This record gives sequence, C-alpha cells and structure tokens, in this order.
Amino acid sequence: MKRSRNAKIIATLGPSSSTRVRIEQLFKAGADVFRLNFSHGSHEDHKDRYDAIRNVEKELNSPIGIMMDLQGPKLRLGTFRDGSALLGMGRRFRLDLDETPGDVTRAPLLHPEIFAVLKPGMTLLLDDGKMRLKVLECGEDFAETEVMVDGVLSDRKGVNVPDAVLPLSALTEKDMTDLRYGLQLGVDWVALSFVQKADDIREARKIIGKKASIVAKLEKPSAIDDLDEIMELTDAVMVARGDLGVELPPEDVPILQKRIITTARKLGKPVIVATQMLDSMVSAPAPTRAEASDVATAVYDGSDAVMLSAETAAGDYPIETVEIMDRIIQRVEGDTLYQRIRESDRTEPEETEADAISAAARQVASTIKAAAIVTYTTTGSTSYRVARERPETRILGLTPKVETARKLALVWGVVAAVSADAEDFAEMVKGARKVAKAEKIGERGDSLVVTAGVPFGTPGATNILRIATIS
Ligand code: PGA
Ligand code: MN
Repeated sequence: MKRSRNAKIIATLGPSSSTRVRIEQLFKAGADVFRLNFSHGSHEDHKDRYDAIRNVEKELNSPIGIMMDLQGPKLRLGTFRDGSALLGMGRRFRLDLDETPGDVTRAPLLHPEIFAVLKPGMTLLLDDGKMRLKVLECGEDFAETEVMVDGVLSDRKGVNVPDAVLPLSALTEKDMTDLRYGLQLGVDWVALSFVQKADDIREARKIIGKKASIVAKLEKPSAIDDLDEIMELTDAVMVARGDLGVELPPEDVPILQKRIITTARKLGKPVIVATQMLDSMVSAPAPTRAEASDVATAVYDGSDAVMLSAETAAGDYPIETVEIMDRIIQRVEGDTLYQRIRESDRTEPEETEADAISAAARQVASTIKAAAIVTYTTTGSTSYRVARERPETRILGLTPKVETARKLALVWGVVAAVSADAEDFAEMVKGARKVAKAEKIGERGDSLVVTAGVPFGTPGATNILRIATIS
C-alpha cells in the first residue's frame, strides 16, 4: 500500500491489538509489518492473529508482511521460597543447579551451560540489568558471587551473561517447535533472538531454507564482534536495543545503532531499529520529546523500519502510537536536511549489472521527475538494490509472487504489488502503468522508469531500463 513516507513501521501484536478490527485499524494507521512475538502467547493466539492479518490483506488487496520473533535462548533464574528475596549490597549470593527454591543466600539457575563458561571476575546481570553480581568462585554446577548492585529479585527473572559466548544454539527446543509452526502458517520473516555468532544464522537457514527470510536480532556483544559475517549471512538485521542495552553500557547503544545501520545500508539489507521507541505511550496518549527525537534519528540515519513492541502489543493507545510514529517519519522525510543527508550518504553501486541499472534508474527518475521507479522482481532482490540507492523517487516492486510482495513490505521506499511477469516490452510497460494507476502513484502524463531483465522471465538478470508514460 502506498504511504506518504519511505521508512516502514512494524507493530507487535498482543492483548491490546489482536482482534481483526484492531489489526485493520493498525494497518490503516500505518503498520506495514506485524510482529508475532513467540515469547508470549499460545500457538492458537498467533494463528488467530496470522489469519486476521491475511484476512485484512485480502480485503484491502494490499500485501502485508508478517514477522515471527523467536524467544531464543533467554536465560532465567528459578523461583524463591517466598516469591522474592532481597539481595544486599556487598553480600555473597550463590547460584547453583539445585532446584530447591531460593532465599537471600542462593537461587537456582538451572542452566549448566552458564556454569560451563563462567570465570571468576565475570559479571552476571539480573532482571534486565537492574541487579549485578560479580563471580568470585565457580565450578561446573555453582557460582559464588558478590552483589555489586542490589535490589529485590523475584521468580524467574532474566539472566544476562555479557562477558561470555555461551555454548548455546540460537534455537532452543521451544524455538524449533515454534519455528515449524510459524513456517507452516506462512510467516514472511523469522527474527532470531540472542544471535551470538555467524553459525547461528547458518543453523537457522538450514531449517528455514527459502520458506522465509531471516532477521538477525543484534542484542549480544559477541554478535557485534562477529558483525561482518553475520551481516553477510542474514537477510536483515534488528538493532534490538532492549537486550543490547542490558548487555552493554547504555552509552554504547547509540554508536552501535549508527554502525549497524551504516553496515546494513552498505550491503543493501533491511535494518530495523527496535525497542522503547515510543515507550511512554504504553500508558500515555502522547510521547515524550525525547522519544519523538529517537524515532526521528532512526529515520535520519536511513533505517528501513522502526518497530513498536509493548506500545502496540499491550499498551493503552496502540492506534495513536502508530499514527504518531507515521507523522514523525513524514515530517523527517519532508525536511531538506534529511534530503541533503540522503544525497551525501549515498552508497556506491557495486560492480554488477543490477547495481548499474539501479543507480541509473535513480538518476534518470530524478532528472525527469518520474512518478516511480518500477522494478520487476521475482525474489525481491532487484527492489532491494534500488532501495539501497535511497532514491528520491518512490519504488514500485512488481512481482508475480505474493510471498515476495509481503517480504518487501519491510523495505525502505518500496510499494509492493503482485503482478504477472511480463513476457515482452509492451506487457512490461502495460503492467507498470496499471499498478502505478491502481496504487495512485502517478497520473496521466507522468513518467515511470521501469527496470527488468531480458530475456523476460529469467530471475536475477536485471539489465534494462525503460522510460514509459502513464496514458
Ligand atoms: P525482544 O527483542 O523484545 O524480543 O526482547 C528486542 C530487544 O531486545 O530490543
Ligand atoms: Mn531482546
């Protein structure tokens, strides 16, 4: 669907946003992709949401992206005898494999893989980093620690081990079950949580194959160390600032955000900025100024998409949040500074035919003020390469495959539509005109810059550029 902006919006579904009506309202307000968060909810909940989205898609005849987000190896403490315990500053606290509920002196941590890599001096973070323990002594089934930052610890709180690469695959047993379920439903994107190394992507790819595209969630320091290879292997990345900001000091997050966006844009892979973007709107009808500025920064930096989590999943103002995000993006994209940054930040084309055509298409479209750059694409890759150019002209991604159109919903500047593959030049131009008109992208007399591959119908061979006029 044509929006008045290029950057896309991802909305997480949850209790605040699960009815068919709500999902349609969110889509109309500006959500381009919906996220099903498998850390919460049952398979039935996700199936109902999936079906509702596809129903809206069909009724509005507009491809919608669906991203399943796997929980990943999220580590948790066990329980406490009294439900919680006060960890006193400077006190000793023991973690072990004993299932007996904990107290002020110890707690169960039923993850032998943590003890396998702990070393004296390492830090353990509890409850999203609110409490901090330093390891004094450890073995294969215990760790004696000192409380460095105190607080009240309650049942099943999360544990982060920022200093170590844990001997864990990015896919737990739960993830495998969820993944099979999601793939069977037909999700377009699979987001992998707590990716630690490039092999995690390889492993996931073996199972996912071509059924969906992969988003690597960057939220571990070790993933940042392995960034180049992870970026090479994944289809898209998410700056998962929630956990990233627990595992690393908060002052590192903005710098990493910019570095990840720059790297992703160079490769032409979609990049998502996520978490706490408009967090105060979980319970307030307007965002803070700092939050508005945060969304704007992600857009100025050229992110493909910005994401809402609790705001739309569990907040009191899900629709208003999407509307405000939509308005912030539009304002930034209308700013002359944004346009100047886009010009000066442009990535150089690689030495391929597809990039040569993409760069030329951007230039031609800009010179003649075309209404759209129309990319015929089977896998979506041609549209990705044009989007990488961040053209000032709207990109229309035409594809015979509905799966490709749905996937393109995440990509900067692309309006995706399903259209039969052209068999000759005349059909190509006709198809482009028809969709441009239907999507209200151009009017009679406007020009279109069309890219495709000849011989027609050969995927991965974009080699022509043609100017057409809407008649
Ligand atoms: P989550 O991932 O919401 O699944 O934890 C995003 C993040 O950590 O920022
Ligand atoms: Mn996370």
